[in-house]
Amino acid sequence: MYRSHTCGELRASHINKEVTLAGWVQKSRDKGFIVWVDLRDRYGITQLVFDEERTPKAMMEKAQNLGREFVIQVTGTVIERASKNPNIPTGDIEILVSELIVLNEALLPPFTIEDKTDGGEDIRMKYRYLDIRRNPVKNSLIFRHKVTQEVRNYLSKEGFIEVETPYLIKSTPEGARDFVVPSRMNQGQFYALPQSPQTFKQLLMVGGMDKYFQIVKCFRDEDLRADRQPEFTQIDCEMAFVEQEDILNAFEGLTRHLLKEVNGVEIDQFPRMLYDDAMRLYGNDKPDIRFGMEFGELNEVAQHKDFGVFNSAELVVGIAVPGGNAYTRKEIDQLIDWVKRPQVGALGMVYCRCNDDGTYKSSVDKFYDQDDLAKWAEATGAKAGDLICVLSGDKNKVRAQLSALRMELAERLGLRNPNEFAPLWVMDFPLLEWDEETERYHAMHHPFTSPKPGQLELLATNPGEVKANAYDLVLNGNEIGGGSIRIHDKKTQALMFDYLGFTEEEAKAQFGFLMNAFEYGAPPHGGLAFGLDRLVAILGGQETIRDFIAFPKNNAGRDVMIDAPAPIDNKQLEELSLKLNLKS
Ligand code: ASP
Repeated sequence: MYRSHTCGELRASHINKEVTLAGWVQKSRDKGFIVWVDLRDRYGITQLVFDEERTPKAMMEKAQNLGREFVIQVTGTVIERASKNPNIPTGDIEILVSELIVLNEALLPPFTIEDKTDGGEDIRMKYRYLDIRRNPVKNSLIFRHKVTQEVRNYLSKEGFIEVETPYLIKSTPEGARDFVVPSRMNQGQFYALPQSPQTFKQLLMVGGMDKYFQIVKCFRDEDLRADRQPEFTQIDCEMAFVEQEDILNAFEGLTRHLLKEVNGVEIDQFPRMLYDDAMRLYGNDKPDIRFGMEFGELNEVAQHKDFGVFNSAELVVGIAVPGGNAYTRKEIDQLIDWVKRPQVGALGMVYCRCNDDGTYKSSVDKFYDQDDLAKWAEATGAKAGDLICVLSGDKNKVRAQLSALRMELAERLGLRNPNEFAPLWVMDFPLLEWDEETERYHAMHHPFTSPKPGQLELLATNPGEVKANAYDLVLNGNEIGGGSIRIHDKKTQALMFDYLGFTEEEAKAQFGFLMNAFEYGAPPHGGLAFGLDRLVAILGGQETIRDFIAFPKNNAGRDVMIDAPAPIDNKQLEELSLKLNLKS
């Protein structure tokens, strides 16, 4: 038996008991005649004591030579501490050690194993197994476990069946590049790793599984934007014989359950917002509604004066910054520089101070009088003491820019409280999205999403206007889930593929299996997938997902601990009949 108790377990009620503990040396304090050692395991820290009077000399010496992170086992008696430590649960007691075994020595760790460590991100990733010993990472992983347990409990109780789907598959188009795996047994052929189990879960519906879920790894070979991982986890779900409303209710139920069980927060019905409204009011399809600062469109009140910049713009739009009139000229100039940074890309910013006496002072006073500016204030909901920030230009660009400014200002104003939860359904996404690069429409969600009833005909005349039965679940300004009602008949699916530019042969080669399945009695179905990593991070009150992933990759998609990706040897290449043709 390595241990009778954990290092987080012993209390005053255990005094005089003989116990055996095992763990890591967090730190030791050697006063010569007395040595204290903090022994740590997953459950906590227990103080060990060795002293000249009661500890044999040989053991005293052994204790004095314990290094940080040595793995030891001790047996001893629980005694009352002379000076108690109210900050830790075991702070009333210590162990007077009678037997000390060094199970393993340890090199000095390259960073301190403390809550606030001196190790930077890179070194911590390289020695992630040491990082995991630290409370913030350890607790995040335990938190993640709790969330996934609750997901499984809830969905199982609701009659969902967890089914595993394969990882070695053929490509599913979810908008990213596939990771591919060469097949040795089928020379010259490749598997793709799933971007999601999308087609498989639809086939499970054809197979009659009715209510499916899976906590599953997905793989997307994207250029990694901040806080994305090439492999990530979804709670993937699908239901048959359902309408959109059934799906929203089912997964709103799951989210509500998580918020209650994990965060102790009870939320009634989640609000819903149309995609078009989200874009108009927040410039964003995942608005953070913990705070206001809604957009006010100003075309009507700001155009047709003499200000050419606004007159030539597709959209003039502003927000009211609460209390922003207190900003100095210098601070406003800094804001202007902020929106002009290439990451945001605005050409400039017009502003209007709302003075306490009800007057206005704008940066374009030459063109707008007090009555005009009063209309700006009305449109943006600005009150005395606020600052109106106005951007103009191409509609889509300007919305994205003002949305970035809104989020930045909210951050600065402390309006993004991580302990407040504001879920929101965003509904009726467009079916298609224009891609500048290829100059054609792509499926905004994926090609299996069904258009809204009666809108299929619009495809021919006004494709950008077609709305889909597609929805996202947003939490605190992050998309935590998304899904759709699917097309479930071969004819519509073929039409969709055709519209998206697949020839009949291509569609057949890539998705013949799905089209065939649709000919054998496919039920109406739909579903959604949550991004588990992000969901866990947000429930945990954080926005970066890395600490909630045991072994994450860095921004270049590398695992710096195992040093992957890495070349493979020539023999492996030969077996696969592959030759490298590296450019540099
Ligand atoms: N497969 C989709 C995704 O990964 C989710 C869904 O439509 O259910 O985004």
